[in-house]
Amino acid sequence: MKPSFYDLNYADLEQIINQNNLNHSAASVLFNWHYKKKETAQCVDKIAQSSLAFFDTTFDFSLPEIDTVHESTNDRTVKFLFKLIDHHKVETVLIPFHNKYSICLSSQVGCAMNCSFCFTGKQGLKRNLTTSEIVGQFIQAWRWLAVNRAGEERILNIVFMGQGEPLHNFDAVKKACEIFLSQHGASIGVQKITISTAGYIPGLKRWSQEIPGVNLALSLHSPFEEKRNELIPINKKYPLDDVLATIDQIPLSKKQFVTYEYILIKDFNDTPEDAEKLGALLVGKSAYINLIPFNSFPGSQYQRPDLDKIEKFKDVLDTFKIPTLIRTAKGDDVLAACGQLNSKN
Ligand code: SAH
Repeated sequence: MKPSFYDLNYADLEQIINQNNLNHSAASVLFNWHYKKKETAQCVDKIAQSSLAFFDTTFDFSLPEIDTVHESTNDRTVKFLFKLIDHHKVETVLIPFHNKYSICLSSQVGCAMNCSFCFTGKQGLKRNLTTSEIVGQFIQAWRWLAVNRAGEERILNIVFMGQGEPLHNFDAVKKACEIFLSQHGASIGVQKITISTAGYIPGLKRWSQEIPGVNLALSLHSPFEEKRNELIPINKKYPLDDVLATIDQIPLSKKQFVTYEYILIKDFNDTPEDAEKLGALLVGKSAYINLIPFNSFPGSQYQRPDLDKIEKFKDVLDTFKIPTLIRTAKGDDVLAACGQLNSKN
């Protein structure tokens, strides 16, 4: 099988062009065609026939196939189920903000983290996605918007909060970020990409060295070790204190924050004591807290607290003066909200 064109970052492309004595300008022409214009047809821009013929015979230009599309009737959320070449399936979600969107990308088929509150974790890890499968979710969703919601094909933010643990598939995620960031192509701003992790320390260490500037979100969920062990089993291997110490060593730019995500689960981690401990842990950091009321899924063992309890939790955090947002669920009627993604839908 031919290698995928969409696995190449700009440096790879330049290298191939040099090695094959092709015209140097082909690199920016091709990146512009595929990632900026997002054209479906073969490139017809200013490019030599010989270069075009070379790329056509050497590389595969196919993308993950859209299997099904679920459009929320509550809001404008769109959930895509993609079919991959080996028939595995992954989900991608477009989350609306006015007439622009954030895209929530998957990085793995299933996930090895096995978090007790997450639908994806119930599947186990099937395999890593390739760079082309990650980038492909973005291009296909963009093209779908161009056809189905013309004029709304603006995807402003990319979040790695779909299926999988992105830092556990570091190389492919890193290369996908490089492609998104490239000024020859999509030219997404570095502050517009967020990688969310359950606290996988080997990946965190590489992240700070290799993709600086990209935003980080940590799934924290409990400030107490025993409770966090129950929710996020890798906490036993990489305890929260070590994760927070690793994050503290990452140099942030002046305006940069780390987002700490906290799922609120009824009668488990939703008391004022939990909030006090969370506030004490994060006070003084460049922190931003996202409170995510638990989203249920078929067979889930937890429940969402009442709004009153959620607001009281936030009130405690406010006393620490840490900016906190209660994240309203979008797309939950089509199981597209956080933690509801599972390839079998
Ligand atoms: N593996 C990464 C990214 C995937 S999860 C991580 O752990 O961060 C993206 C976000 O959705 C995380 O904050 C995760 O904890 C949250 N999430 C997972 N299941 C959820 C559920 N059932 N309800 C609400 N949020 C959930």
